[in-house]
Amino acid sequence: MSFVPYGRQSISDADIEAVVGVLRSDFLTQGPVVERFEAGIAAAVEAPHCVAVNSATAALHIACLALGVGPGDIVWTSPVSFVASSNCALYCGATVDFVDIDPATLNLSVRKLEEKLIEAQAAGRLPKAVIPVHLCGLPCDMAAIGALARRYGFKVIEDASHAIGARDNGRPVGDCAHSDITVFSFHPVKIITTGEGGCAVTRDPELARRLALVRSHGITRDEALMAEPSHGPWYYEQVELGYNYRMTEMQAALGLSQLQRLDAFVADRHRLADRYDAQLADLPLDLPRRVAESYSGLHLYVVQLRLGEIGATHREVFEALRARGLGVNLHYIPIYLQPYYRALGFRPGHCPAAEAYYARAISIPLFHGMSEAQQDQVVAALRHVVR
Ligand SMILES: *Cc1c(COP(=O)(O)O)cnc(C)c1O
Repeated sequence: MSFVPYGRQSISDADIEAVVGVLRSDFLTQGPVVERFEAGIAAAVEAPHCVAVNSATAALHIACLALGVGPGDIVWTSPVSFVASSNCALYCGATVDFVDIDPATLNLSVRKLEEKLIEAQAAGRLPKAVIPVHLCGLPCDMAAIGALARRYGFKVIEDASHAIGARDNGRPVGDCAHSDITVFSFHPVKIITTGEGGCAVTRDPELARRLALVRSHGITRDEALMAEPSHGPWYYEQVELGYNYRMTEMQAALGLSQLQRLDAFVADRHRLADRYDAQLADLPLDLPRRVAESYSGLHLYVVQLRLGEIGATHREVFEALRARGLGVNLHYIPIYLQPYYRALGFRPGHCPAAEAYYARAISIPLFHGMSEAQQDQVVAALRHVVR
């Protein structure tokens, strides 16, 4: 019995050669490969501008900054996400709140978003930005969220950390047709990797300029943006408070090489997910919902236990799967239940659907390069444990 992780990277010889090539070149950072990677992502997701950074967490932070999120503002996101989806607003001094999920899709519920907007408008507390998360790679209903954004005047940042390569009504996630900025992650468990890394894409050239500015200390060498005439060829100006969130050339080379296999990676995830769908259908599990008009990135395959039909608790099932060598995981603990968020005033019961999901969800292994034998081990273990 071998250990099967829930997710892992797939590295080819071409990936290794690409990174080695950079190591032998003149630039390890701030060279030409980051720009080529940005152009590659922009082409793949059909958005004109891409700013690569050293994590999706950094991308979410600069997205909030570029949109002017600051003290006094409110940002809403989904409670069923990684903490980075809401921490980005706290970094900017804003406050956060959560819109409960739709149990069918596990994404932020558009109906609950609308209800919360009506209440917020009456209270004069409308959000500055909303951050929908395409959980497990399944696209949110962005047309509906975009329509609400226009009606209520908020900005939209898509957290597409799970969803590069996904499509919605035939359009790639990241084209920003219904949002201001979309963020991707290239952490090794995600669909393509740069080790650590992320990016923000947008259709708006002014937002792209602001994203690039705060990525690198708020420093510009563009005279058009300077407060005073240049002092000479060495001159640059810091015009805002930025950070060092730059991606290295090695990371970009790995990402560019991985990007060539993006469609194959996602197709393989679909092949494996289809096998799970067939082989787990008779078990007391609710399997991931497929949505007709979407092609999921399938970053995760989450099963939800029908606990009334299983003679064990959620925790017992989870521990039994771990004991059988499965690197099962749980995505995610509702963010507001974290002690840091409870200290901000959040309490259990805030988002009942998110908590009901948390009480019965398990992410089972799914990654490019997973063998059918490994998958059979997962199915056999689940079959044994939930029966
Ligand atoms: C992984 C992840 C992030 C953070 O990505 P990093 O690149 O690790 O910073 C943010 N949001 C979601 C939904 C994620 O899954």
